[in-house]
Amino acid sequence: MWRKNLNRILNGASAIVIFILLLTGSADAERYVVQKGDTLSYLLQDYFTFSEVNRIAQERKTKHPSEGLKAGMLAEKGSDSFALLLSPDKEVKISRTPLGGADVALITYPTDTLTTLIQGEITSNLFNAVIKVGESAELAQSLAQIFEWEIDFLKDLRRGDSFKIVVEKRFVRGKFLGYGRILAAEFDVHKGRHYAFWYKAGSKYGYFNESGNPLERGFLRVPLPYGKITSRFTDSRLHPITQKYQPHYGVDYAAPIGTPVMAAASGAVVKKSFTERNGYYIELRHSNGYHTFYLHLNGFNNSIKEGSYVKQGQVVGYVGKTGMATGAHLDYRIRYKDKWLNPLNFIAESPVFEQFDKKEFALTVDRYSKMMNLAALFALNTRPTILP
Ligand SMILES: [Zn+2]
Repeated sequence: MWRKNLNRILNGASAIVIFILLLTGSADAERYVVQKGDTLSYLLQDYFTFSEVNRIAQERKTKHPSEGLKAGMLAEKGSDSFALLLSPDKEVKISRTPLGGADVALITYPTDTLTTLIQGEITSNLFNAVIKVGESAELAQSLAQIFEWEIDFLKDLRRGDSFKIVVEKRFVRGKFLGYGRILAAEFDVHKGRHYAFWYKAGSKYGYFNESGNPLERGFLRVPLPYGKITSRFTDSRLHPITQKYQPHYGVDYAAPIGTPVMAAASGAVVKKSFTERNGYYIELRHSNGYHTFYLHLNGFNNSIKEGSYVKQGQVVGYVGKTGMATGAHLDYRIRYKDKWLNPLNFIAESPVFEQFDKKEFALTVDRYSKMMNLAALFALNTRPTILP
């Protein structure tokens, strides 16, 4: 009975994509991992004669010169074909032709982007809740980033809080490739409900709440994906190493060595350097007189240089314990002109969206709200259906 109702409701919501994953590839295909030193001739010797192998190898070289064999690549051996899987969506297929010859073709499979609905409930933390419903930590991080100025994920979450996410997923031949964009999300925290809707206003885009106010700010609230505050901003504290009272103009986040550190805001790299006190550190200059500092790094993102420009959220380095540090942590600082600001009290400005169309945005809110309201029915779908 509920199935009938579900069908009726789904027919009314055309934007919801119901899909069945079609498993492609023949069932009798044998998978092989290309080893170091393997040659195409060696891999094909069981399938084709010596002269055929030579001709195929020659043809592959002339037709697809850049698609060479690499150790770790997957090969699929069928009964009358051999495929070299270059990437999830690309393969070189060598097949026997009806006349007994061999054909070499480079095949590119289309990528399907499907809009899916995901929901979960907090039992311990956001990461575990997202993983429990079969999704990855990457999705949890994206969700946390969207709501970072609304929800303090270290303090605000309680057991029973819940979330819904409308997210694009990319598939090739029925295989999950990765996430696309989060289009909308709802987070029910015991204190209140938060919404995020992705919307493009002219050439600028971002996430907005249900009233159309942007959720993003010029700065990230916290420049790393996870970390625990171990020391706060103060004019005087007892330094753990020097044993002297000194100001601490930053916030310390303890995190494992190697945790990525992101640029809090877009800007230029002023310093990528080392001092005995700071260890490896980075200083960025942003617009309107703001500078940010990232101290005690283990290492840098090697693609950035002093003078280069970084975007908000771009990885600039990795958490370490270099310089005067008792443990692995990031010391994050913000300076406005000559004054140090407390990063925990700092509320960055929202970007301005000049071409925001209220009517169009209302339609976006309506469309995704409808999808998220269907979440309860999808939950039913995950239980085994009892057949009469
Ligand atoms: Zn510190």
